[in-house]
Amino acid sequence: MRGPQAAPEAAPEALTEAAAEALTEAAADAAAQDELYPADRVAAAAAAAAAAGLDALLLTPGPDLRYVTGYDAHQLERLTCLAVPASGAAFLLVPRLELPAALASPAGRLGLEIIAWEETGDPYALVTARLPAAAAVGLSDRMWALMTLRFRAAMPGARQDLASLALRGLRARKSAAEIAALAAAGAAIDRVHARVPGLLAAGRTEREIAADIGAAIIEEGHASVDFTIVASGPNAASPHHTAAGRQLRAGDAVVVDIGGTMPSGYCSDCTRTYVLGEPPADLARYYEVLRDAQDAACAAVRPGVTAEAVDAAAREPIAAAGYGNFFVHRTGHGIGLESHEDPYIVAGNTEPLAAGHAFSVEPGIYPGPHGARIEDIVVCTPRGSRRLNNASRELVAVPVG
Ligand code: ZN
Ligand code: ZN
Ligand code: ZN
Repeated sequence: MRGPQAAPEAAPEALTEAAAEALTEAAADAAAQDELYPADRVAAAAAAAAAAGLDALLLTPGPDLRYVTGYDAHQLERLTCLAVPASGAAFLLVPRLELPAALASPAGRLGLEIIAWEETGDPYALVTARLPAAAAVGLSDRMWALMTLRFRAAMPGARQDLASLALRGLRARKSAAEIAALAAAGAAIDRVHARVPGLLAAGRTEREIAADIGAAIIEEGHASVDFTIVASGPNAASPHHTAAGRQLRAGDAVVVDIGGTMPSGYCSDCTRTYVLGEPPADLARYYEVLRDAQDAACAAVRPGVTAEAVDAAAREPIAAAGYGNFFVHRTGHGIGLESHEDPYIVAGNTEPLAAGHAFSVEPGIYPGPHGARIEDIVVCTPRGSRRLNNASRELVAVPVG
């Protein structure tokens, strides 16, 4: 299927140099997208649906749809839905006005049937008519209730379950192209952290610093900002503090946990702890414990080791040093098209790690009146682990200024 945006045939000599360059860039961009979102994903999703006992997957805009087709579709009240039957041809239903965008996306190059529904049509009936025998459907985990309930009404005989039953195994094990995309995201957020010491000064508010960090996240190559945690002084003891009006003071620990989404769709997430001037004595002491724990957890990563064993590797040295009660969250979360996804690095998750799993390793110690966290994204490789964040993990002392 050919998109309406396809370039008209033109003799190469008729192109200006700039136009030729733009076409080459567009082709390179499309090639990179196709490598990241290969055409065999639809078939892999269908096979995974069958293996999970689902007759079809119904994927609305979000990370599942993007993973399977490369289409970064708008979340609207109008239904956009990729239906992937366990057997039979998949089809993508889009509102008429979204058709050009769908055709221009990597989904337009998959040879997929794309159906545009008219403004007054009933898209739920269109989907249902093509899946008359479906007894169990997997809905994308982030489908709006608005659509979930419309599908329930349109297919009263079909059991609804989560599409992640089928897709989580595929999405959790990253391809070489996905790891390259996560590495590019890691390098971009490392460049932002390299700029953070220049933004910290006594008298500046967390909110001002967070705004500057947000601008830097975009300047360093992200398409959007996902979060900018700047937690100073006593706020550093709150792991998910929202940057507020507090002004930085000498002696403050400042936990900076930041991330964004790259144009590729892949996310960054990295935490470093800074201190303004001289660190309080106890902070310097437990920071050493924290750094060793983070190293130990990264060193524990290899195929076959369970996710909970990596959590334990981080937790044991912290508990042994007497800070166990102050490590109040899991050690990490998977990352990819979502900044939090499978696999979760937490006690109780006995899933063995495999090459290609990508996740954060982010122990923290929050005794108050300050706290600290160190977070890197790590990929499980055949022989161990590879960190995708490489900014210094020392407590970064910033001159009071
Ligand atoms: Zn977090
Ligand atoms: Zn994280
Ligand atoms: Zn984080």
